[in-house]
Amino acid sequence: MTKAIDLFIVGGGMIGSALAARLAPCGMQIALLERDPPAAFDPASLPDLRVSALSPASIAFLEQANAWPSIQTMRTAPFKRMQVWEKRQDQGTLFDAAEVDATCLGHIVENRLVQLACLSALEGHDNVTILCPDEVSAIDYHNGHSTIRLKSGQQFTANLLAGADGAQSIVRRAAGIALDSMQYPMHALVATVGIIGGERDITWQRFTPDGPQSLLPLPGDYASLVWYHRPSEVRRLLALDNEGLLDAFRTHFPAALPQITGLVQKGSFALTRSHANEYARTGIVLIGDAAHTIHPLAGQGVNLGFQDAAVLSEVLLKAWQQGKTIGALPLLKQYERERKLANHLMQRAMDAFSYGFSNDIAPLRLLRNAGLKLANHQGPLKREVIRYALGLPLSKTLPGISRLRA
Ligand SMILES: Cc1cc2nc3c(=O)[nH]c(=O)nc-3n(C[C@H](O)[C@H](O)[C@H](O)COP(=O)(O)OP(=O)(O)OC[C@H]3O[C@@H](n4cnc5c(N)ncnc54)[C@H](O)[C@@H]3O)c2cc1C
Repeated sequence: MTKAIDLFIVGGGMIGSALAARLAPCGMQIALLERDPPAAFDPASLPDLRVSALSPASIAFLEQANAWPSIQTMRTAPFKRMQVWEKRQDQGTLFDAAEVDATCLGHIVENRLVQLACLSALEGHDNVTILCPDEVSAIDYHNGHSTIRLKSGQQFTANLLAGADGAQSIVRRAAGIALDSMQYPMHALVATVGIIGGERDITWQRFTPDGPQSLLPLPGDYASLVWYHRPSEVRRLLALDNEGLLDAFRTHFPAALPQITGLVQKGSFALTRSHANEYARTGIVLIGDAAHTIHPLAGQGVNLGFQDAAVLSEVLLKAWQQGKTIGALPLLKQYERERKLANHLMQRAMDAFSYGFSNDIAPLRLLRNAGLKLANHQGPLKREVIRYALGLPLSKTLPGISRLRA
């Protein structure tokens, strides 16, 4: 038997489950499909490898989705300052939330806890069906109508099919939407490490000619370490035993960091920039990594996804309240117009950062040194960088930058 519903979301990761949680109270019939059930939270557990730096704009959306309070009752690490530097020993440039009268720049949260909180925000909403664990076996998309068949044998039709199924999106392929993509010539080595000493309300990032290095404090005496490097070097580092890898961290990461005491977990990720040519067709829409992936050096990937979910949910809620069809193309294109350019600009900014900082070409080295020094002494410029990190609109004091964002 085929079940007809309003909205079928493929992918219950951070973005798909947050979209469902934001829309659940309006009463539309929603199905959320997720292949891998997240493990329940255990306060005694060590931190997961996959974490994200959530911006205040993302947190505001998670509050609207009624998920933020339960994230806070689990665990997060708020940070108020970001330190950025080039040389291992120099003082670097400090960006402080206090300079724009904000209380924090963001929170580091384990991805699984964001997902769990969004799923728990769906409890008690009889209009939402969670299909987990299950996965798509086939999607038939013809003339704006989708039939979704699941491995379990269940079958659905939906007025709107949302692809929140990540970079390898099956929904994107079913809609025949093309993707521009390119692989960066570096991988990310990610590790959860034990730390002692040092400050904890701060994130650190250092730019080296091989790629950036960062350390993000986690709750307790832990931190998430990310080291971008040539794929062959990342493979070599990962092949070292634990002591060898810890020695490499201690030798190559800045001396000012808290002392690294042990290794909890390690892994690596290939880095791809990708952008779907369209975000919508009649009855189909893409959000989050299904629509775009970005260099993670400034931790913006999931933050862009939450902004997609925020804009899409506003468009859908308005249409729903006015009794309009939620799969109508003009409506979905309104979402695409608002988000595609913003995502594109952020992708290009990250490329400029990655290229501008990850090389040793003398003029670029001088330019970035001058830029960091200028940011250190120039109040307005520094405040704009902080506002950008907060996901706030830029102020009117730097009209050139405001125009770029508009
Ligand atoms: C090293 C690294 C560090 C990063 N750090 C940050 C950071 O600090 N801040 C930040 O903002 N971003 C960061 N990102 C990016 C961020 O992780 C992604 O942007 C984010 O996870 C995307 O979320 P999503 O829900 O769109 O997709 P995903 O996390 O990929 O979730 C997709 C979900 O869909 C499910 N799914 C897929 N196909 C199917 C199917 N056929 N049937 C059923 N279910 C399916 C999957 O199981 C998964 O749960 C980082 C990325 C990397 C690689």
